[in-house]
Amino acid sequence: MSTPRTTDDATQPESLKVTPHDPRYFAVIDKRFNKRFAASPDYIRLVSSTEQVMAAVEDAVREGLRLAVTSGGHCLEGFVCDPEVRVIIDVSPMKRIYHDVERSAVAVEAGATVGETFKALFDNWGVVLPLGEYPGIGMGGHVPGGAFGFLCRQLGLAVDYLYAVEVVTVGPDGRAIPVIATREISDPHRELWWAHTGGGAGNFGVVTCYWFRAPGAFGDDPAKLLPRAPESITTFKAEWEWRDIDAASFLQLLRNHGSWCERNSSADSSYASLWTLLEVHRRQFGKIIIRGVSTADAGAGRQVDELLAALGEGLPAPGGRELARMSWLEFALDPFPDLFGMPPGGVSVKVKDALLKKRLDDRQIGVAYEHLTRSDVDVMGGMLGFASYGGWVNTVAADATASAQREAILDMACTTGWLDRREEAANLAWVRAFYADLFADRGGVPVPGEACDGAFINHPDTDLADPAFNTSGVPWHTLYYQAGYPRLQLVKARWDPRDVFRHALSIRAA
Ligand SMILES: Cc1cc2nc3c(=O)[nH]c(=O)nc-3n(C[C@H](O)[C@H](O)[C@H](O)COP(=O)(O)OP(=O)(O)OC[C@H]3O[C@@H](n4cnc5c(N)ncnc54)[C@H](O)[C@@H]3O)c2cc1C
Repeated sequence: MSTPRTTDDATQPESLKVTPHDPRYFAVIDKRFNKRFAASPDYIRLVSSTEQVMAAVEDAVREGLRLAVTSGGHCLEGFVCDPEVRVIIDVSPMKRIYHDVERSAVAVEAGATVGETFKALFDNWGVVLPLGEYPGIGMGGHVPGGAFGFLCRQLGLAVDYLYAVEVVTVGPDGRAIPVIATREISDPHRELWWAHTGGGAGNFGVVTCYWFRAPGAFGDDPAKLLPRAPESITTFKAEWEWRDIDAASFLQLLRNHGSWCERNSSADSSYASLWTLLEVHRRQFGKIIIRGVSTADAGAGRQVDELLAALGEGLPAPGGRELARMSWLEFALDPFPDLFGMPPGGVSVKVKDALLKKRLDDRQIGVAYEHLTRSDVDVMGGMLGFASYGGWVNTVAADATASAQREAILDMACTTGWLDRREEAANLAWVRAFYADLFADRGGVPVPGEACDGAFINHPDTDLADPAFNTSGVPWHTLYYQAGYPRLQLVKARWDPRDVFRHALSIRAA
C-alpha cells in the first residue's frame, strides 16, 4: 500500500505490553474520562511507531482477540470499555508534532492531546487549529468525529484543515496495512481520507498520524499553512439566580438566546468572533450561566455587553459579570477551570446531543422548564447546554467532508453527571425523559429537517440506535451521517473487510 512513516522508534518493533499485574495497565484504565464505563482487557499495548501499531494489530487478530484503540480516553460512550474488548492499543506514546516539508503540512501524531497540539502549534509557528474545548481530549479519537471548538464560528471544523491521515488497516488475510490517504483528487485512497473528516473514530483502522494544512495554503513556511492564532482571548461570564426566574422569564431568556443565535450565526456576522455557552443548570443547582470567548481584542467588551443586553431583554439583569483578557495559549490550556474541573476520582456522565438549525420552539422551552425545575428527582448534575455553532462551519458543502451537518447554529446537549453508582438510574431516567420530551413530535430524536440537523458523532449516544428511545423510524446513522452513510459503508467494506474496528455505533459495511 504505502510505506509507513519512519520514526525514531521504528527500529524497535515490539511495543510495551502491559497486563493487570503492571501499574502501567491501571494508568491507561484510569485515564478514562467517563467513569460510567470501566475497561478490563487481557492486556494493553503501548505503541510508539506505525510499525509497533502494525505488530500489535496483527497479534490481536491472529490471537482472535477483539481490540479497541485509545488515545485520550475521552469517549463519552463505552466503546473502548466494551466487555468484549480483550486488547487495548494505546497510541498515546505517539505525540510528535512537526513540520513535514515533503507534504507541506503540519504532522500531528494521534497520541497527542488537544492541549499538546495547541501548545506546539502556538509555540513553534504561532498558528492554531479549531480543535475541541478540552485540552485532555486525544487527537486519535477527536479528529475523525469532525471536531469543533471555541474557534469554530470563525475557522470552521478541525477536519476542514485535514490534508492527510495515516491509518493502519487490516486486510482480508489479517495482515496490517499502513495507508496514507490524502485529500488530493488524484489520490486512489482519497475516500479513506474523506471518511476521517467526520465518519467517526474507531471504524476503519488505527490512526497514527494526521497532516493539517488550510485549503489553498502552500509553501514551505509552516507559519502560513494554518490560521494565525488569535492575538488575544477575552473570556466572559454572567449568571442569573434561578430564584429570580419563573416560567415566563425562562421562556423569555431562551427565546432571547435562541433568536440571537438565529440572527448572528452567518460566517460574515460581526459576532462570528464570539463563541458562547449557555448552561441552564437544574434549579436545584441555583444558577443559569452564560459564558464565552471573544477574539475581537479591543472590541470584545462591547461585543459581550451587546450580547448580554440582547439576552437580558425583559428579564432580571444577570449578575456577577466577569471579563478577562489573556493570551490564546493561556486560555486554551486551561479553559474555564470552574466548568471543566473534575472532582478527585472523576465523574460518570451521560450526554444526549442535538444539532439545531433553529432555536427551541416555545413548546420545547416549556418542556425544558418542566424538567429543569422538577422537584420529584434529585439530579444535581443535570443541565441543558447550548454551545454556539455555525459561522464558518456552514460555509463548507455537506458532502465535501463526512461532517454532513453544515446548517446548524447550535450544538445542544441534555447532560447529567454523578459521583456515586447508586445515583446512575435516576440520572439516566431524568436525562432520557427530558430529551425524549424535547423531541416528542419527532420520535424522541432530532430528525434532520427544518429545525434540527441530527446529532454530532463526537458526542455519541447509543440510545439513538435503541428502538426504545428512537421511535422516529429514522436510523441512528442518518442522524449522525445523513446522506453520507452509504459512502462511509463503502469505505468500511473496502478498508476493514473483517470488521476488526467496531463498536456500538460503528459503520456497518455496505
Ligand atoms: C470533557 C469533554 C469535552 C469534549 N469537548 C469536545 C469539543 O469541544 N469538541 C468536540 O468535537 N468533541 C468534544 N468532546 C468529544 C471528543 O472529541 C470525543 O469523545 C473523542 O472521540 C475523544 O477522543 P479520545 O482519543 O480522547 O478518546 P478515546 O476514548 O481514547 O477514544 C474515543 C474513540 O476514538 C477511537 N480512537 C481513539 N484513538 C484512535 C486512533 N488512534 N485510531 C482510531 N480510533 C481511535 C476509540 O476506539 C473510541 O472509539 C469532548 C469530550 C469530553 C469528555
